[in-house]
Amino acid sequence: MRSTMMDVPLTIASIMRYGTSVFGDREVVTWTGDGTRRRTYAEAGRRAAQLANALRGLGVDADQRVGTFMWNNAEHLEAYLAVPSMGAVLHTLNIRLAAAEVGYIATHADDYAVIVDASLVSKFAEILPQAPTVKHVIVTGGPLGETPGTDQLTGVSVHSYEDLLVAEPDSFDWPELDENSAAAMCYTSGTTGNPKGIVYSHRSAYLHSMGACLGNAFGLSERDRVLPVVPMFHANAWGLAYASLLSGAALVMPDKDLSPATLVRLIADEKVTLAGGVPTIWAAVLTYMRAEGGDLSSLRVVLCGGSAVPHALQYNFDQELGVRILQAWGMTETSPLASVANPPPGLSEEEEWSYRDSQGRLFCTVEGRLSGDGGALLPSDGEAVGEIEVRGPWITGSYYKDDDPSKFHDGWLRTGDVGTMDEHGFIRLSDRAKDVIKSGGEWISSMELENILMAHPDVAEAAVFGVPDDKWGERPLAAIVLRSGADVAADKLRGFLAEQIPRWQLPERWCFVAEVPKTSVGKFSKRQMREAYQRGDYEIIEVR
Ligand code: ADP
Repeated sequence: MRSTMMDVPLTIASIMRYGTSVFGDREVVTWTGDGTRRRTYAEAGRRAAQLANALRGLGVDADQRVGTFMWNNAEHLEAYLAVPSMGAVLHTLNIRLAAAEVGYIATHADDYAVIVDASLVSKFAEILPQAPTVKHVIVTGGPLGETPGTDQLTGVSVHSYEDLLVAEPDSFDWPELDENSAAAMCYTSGTTGNPKGIVYSHRSAYLHSMGACLGNAFGLSERDRVLPVVPMFHANAWGLAYASLLSGAALVMPDKDLSPATLVRLIADEKVTLAGGVPTIWAAVLTYMRAEGGDLSSLRVVLCGGSAVPHALQYNFDQELGVRILQAWGMTETSPLASVANPPPGLSEEEEWSYRDSQGRLFCTVEGRLSGDGGALLPSDGEAVGEIEVRGPWITGSYYKDDDPSKFHDGWLRTGDVGTMDEHGFIRLSDRAKDVIKSGGEWISSMELENILMAHPDVAEAAVFGVPDDKWGERPLAAIVLRSGADVAADKLRGFLAEQIPRWQLPERWCFVAEVPKTSVGKFSKRQMREAYQRGDYEIIEVR
């Protein structure tokens, strides 16, 4: 028997309509460098309609790709609303990648028009010669004549965003869309091989936004004021933009200034209740707070993910700042939220920490399983270690154009993350498959060693990666960034590790570095570290 329910498509247009009317007086606040500019959701909705009209006028129809090359700001939100709602596909380009890489990605996606922040025009001009499909560049910010680099945008039509909008009506005849049609796309950062494209549907974005608002996830509501530090080009800012529109939470956008001083000021002045970013951002905020202080009392939670959240970071936020960090796990392929580490109720403090330090419980719609060597399935008993595989309505089932069947296993996505799963759906990662250190047939978890080392009071950052070893095949090397003013010898750090992990896992090779190289989205770049080691850039201290 068929249900009697209406078949109404789940679309971003419906999130936009709801958010910009019901919550029309909520605001999106953008940092300007010395203050803020403010726009209500109702205004953002009218401007989204103007943008859609303008894009139509430039020839954007059907599912053409409209790229963004932008910081987190009100105009980026307008593109998030207008482009998918008019039936086109929003393609958020990573502003931190090398020109050739962005060119490859824009060409692969067939981007037709790109909206570019004024401050990024010179950078985008370097990309253009390698992005031949791009016909229109739309520059936000000040008048074109005053924007450095616009004269270098050759071979395309260049438009001022504000001039385009001003000329257009502030309503648009939003089309009825198929919920399974493409709404947005994002590319993986391509640590191995070329970047791969993931195409989100209206339905997946809608369900993902609802998921983010659940009480067991972020519990977003109209009482929240959300600061997405995570870039809108990094897996759609973890869904925070659409989730805010849907729940009536205000958005506070840092634009191009991600310095801890500005973040702390924005949190205090704008009474931010929820902020999200990778661990390196919050480590910098902690250091800043220790030195300068600030008022973070409005925060109810800080979302953290993208790489493992060090226990010491969570603990120190709790103890010193009275702010709770909430760990989440996911990847571009999973929209990105797959699990959130809210501990179950009724636990001792110690048990609670064990859940908070995990990668969290899978969402209701995200199923997970573990796969071992040769693809055999392993039990989810909290003990067996294998690769996590997931499937669900907001998990990609293939890659755009150039699919990679090796990343899928009988209809499940192979995440490339290795760890355990327990019967309550909690995941505990020990490594990325490509970072696992294989020493004499046994696995050493780089994540565990890093986590312990980063709890040492003299250590600011610790990255552990495998290096070739004649006897064992591979052994861990620990690269340490000391806190300013700290001085501790490698053998002391090795002794500190020895208190918590078996002897055979202790690194023999150590080095002290000024900083750990980071990827375009602020994660430790182990690839760069392995290359630096091979070049002999590191001064290695042997301790046995
Ligand atoms: P990239 O592959 O460029 O890092 P993603 O942002 O999609 O791009 O990264 C997804 C990966 O980030 C995951 O597969 C996982 O390895 C890592 N990751 C994300 N969140 C966490 C977390 N909470 N703990 C550990 N690793 C995480």
